[in-house]
Amino acid sequence: MTQTIASTSDYAARIAKVRAAMVSKQVDAALLSVGHDLPYLSGYFAMPLERLTMLVIPQSGEVTMVVPRLEVARVTPQPGVFSITAWGETENPVAIVAKLLGGAKSIAVGDQMWARFLVELLPLVPGANFVRAVDVVGALRMSKDASEIAALVTAGAAADRVATQLHSGLIPLIGRTEAQVSADISARLIAEGHDVVNFAIVAAGENAASPHHHAGSRVITKNEIVLCDFGGTMNGYCSDITRCVFTGKPAADVAAAYEVLFASQAAGVAAGVVGAACQDVDSASRRVIEAAGFGEYFVHRTGHGIGMEAHEEPYMVSGNTLPIAAGHAFSVEPGIYIAGKWGMRLEDIVVATHAGPVSMNAVNHALVTVEA
Ligand code: ZN
Ligand code: ZN
Ligand code: ZN
Repeated sequence: MTQTIASTSDYAARIAKVRAAMVSKQVDAALLSVGHDLPYLSGYFAMPLERLTMLVIPQSGEVTMVVPRLEVARVTPQPGVFSITAWGETENPVAIVAKLLGGAKSIAVGDQMWARFLVELLPLVPGANFVRAVDVVGALRMSKDASEIAALVTAGAAADRVATQLHSGLIPLIGRTEAQVSADISARLIAEGHDVVNFAIVAAGENAASPHHHAGSRVITKNEIVLCDFGGTMNGYCSDITRCVFTGKPAADVAAAYEVLFASQAAGVAAGVVGAACQDVDSASRRVIEAAGFGEYFVHRTGHGIGMEAHEEPYMVSGNTLPIAAGHAFSVEPGIYIAGKWGMRLEDIVVATHAGPVSMNAVNHALVTVEA
């Protein structure tokens, strides 16, 4: 897995904020195992395997990382943030965690903790009640700090460079299969600095009408739309961008629809201001598409949060009244999908700031013609 670029003081600050939330929510201890809360608070990505790794955060006192002895070498120590307790192959790590919990009565656990560990812990902490760790970590995870925004900027710029290569014809399209183009884009995401590729959707012509189309054996021809939606993880943070190109001169109906999409996406970005509700971004984008008569062809929410995970809270969807806060990072990606004919989507990642929404993606938003 990848390393994040946060510093020891970032981890100390994040844990202090989690503890403040624990005080206000009357949570005595938090247990974080596999999943992204653990690296967010400690810098350590645990392998999602059967051996227990767990960060034990009591409301006060020492924070302890309980980790298999054979994996201790993978943990970068963060002095003053947590101590490390290694367990050997014949020890019971759940008993070690129970002991560290002292008399904790209200215990927050991460969503991705293996059920096995919770089941084994229950009889060792009689009378305790359990809540989800998202209650004490979720709001913090949503509001990116400076080092996280820097990582999103870096990842976004790397994805932009690949999109620029697509626009300039450096990634040949005509005569290649979607799968070949997807592999090409994936290799370029790595070459531009990503540690892993999370997805590279390439959908040509009528295939673009399926928003999550799996790139396949369909050969790309002249005079059709090609939707490319790709992203990866770099320094622990994700990129995600969608651009459509046309292998020739777009037909009038496609060009006209793209103008609507372009305006819809810009309206969604502009609505991503601090204090607005998440659903306002969705309605701003949707209104433009509905006014043009394409409402029934915009079949998904406008966006998702992004950070250490490619999709995380907050979601830009009707019904989400959560106010947008400074540091919220999310996609704005409206689409129009005409079954059997074509589809199109335009996506940037945006970070809300007190000075307004800042896009992580600056590459040309037009329906660029690629003759290659
Ligand atoms: Zn998607
Ligand atoms: Zn995407
Ligand atoms: Zn997305």
